[in-house]
Amino acid sequence: MSAQLLDGKSLSEKIITNIQTQVTGREASGLATPALAVILVGNDPASGIYVRNKRNACIKAGVRSISYDLPASTSQAELLALIDELNSDVDVHGILVQMPLPPQIDSETVIERIHPDKDVDGFHPYNIGRLAVRMPTLRSCTPYGVMRLLAMAHDDLKGLNAVVVGSSNHVGRPMGLELLLAGCTVTTCHRFTKNLAEFVSQADILVVAVGRPELVKGAWIKQGATVIDVGINRLEDGRLCGDVEFMPASERAAWITPVPGGVGPMTVAMLLENTLQAAKAADARLA
Ligand code: NAD
Repeated sequence: MSAQLLDGKSLSEKIITNIQTQVTGREASGLATPALAVILVGNDPASGIYVRNKRNACIKAGVRSISYDLPASTSQAELLALIDELNSDVDVHGILVQMPLPPQIDSETVIERIHPDKDVDGFHPYNIGRLAVRMPTLRSCTPYGVMRLLAMAHDDLKGLNAVVVGSSNHVGRPMGLELLLAGCTVTTCHRFTKNLAEFVSQADILVVAVGRPELVKGAWIKQGATVIDVGINRLEDGRLCGDVEFMPASERAAWITPVPGGVGPMTVAMLLENTLQAAKAADARLA
């Protein structure tokens, strides 16, 4: 292996320690403890693990986590009523609804119901729109976390060829917008892209967020590229793997993220950073 690892776990720990210091400072000067409402609907095991990680990270950062564990039978109207209540509660700075939701609830309706000022996941069309017009406020956590990892490897991204594989609303699309904002020449590939290998081989910066184990082959990677693997796939033997063939890709890349321990912890750190940012913006509105 020749690539250097982009260690999201240790970077996220540093970020969380920094948030914790800022939270303590706020409290000492009489400002509110940032508070995040975390809503889990149903008992999907993977969602349960993600929510537990987020709540534990809140404890480490000194952020107040308010838990709502709702039954799988919760109606859309009940969930929207809870969101309305949290939107108008001045003591709550961020609202997170863990996805996916049960089939009777439309996720887009739920995302749009969260007030953009409390949308700490950065999923609301208003917040994605602000990123599109180069005025980001609350930024989608996973792409924002990827940008922080890229900053470890590159002082400046301007003019680099960036290829994003995957075009979902929550990862691929805002990822392309972040890279464009940073001055990259961006190409987005998706399920209809013809000859994916050819696009991947042009990438100085490659971000893959598809959800298909080892879809991107190591032999496709440009020599010296920076490879960010967002994918988290559970194999039949229980192991986790990414969307990129890790070992062969490491032979060609200059920098690469591991799975696990790369993007995942950064997503959680950015959620906490957004919650702190939302609390600071609320202070400014109250002043
Ligand atoms: P999604 O299913 O919403 O989107 C997948 C995207 O991949 C789509 O745009 C689709 O067009 C594209 N795609 C599918 N097959 C393809 C192919 N053969 N070639 C090229 N593109 C193809 O998924 P998502 O929510 O964006 O998540 C993607 C992956 O990232 C999943 O493994 C998910 O678990 C992971 N994820 C990780 C984090 C993290 O914090 N590490 C956060 C979010 C998502």
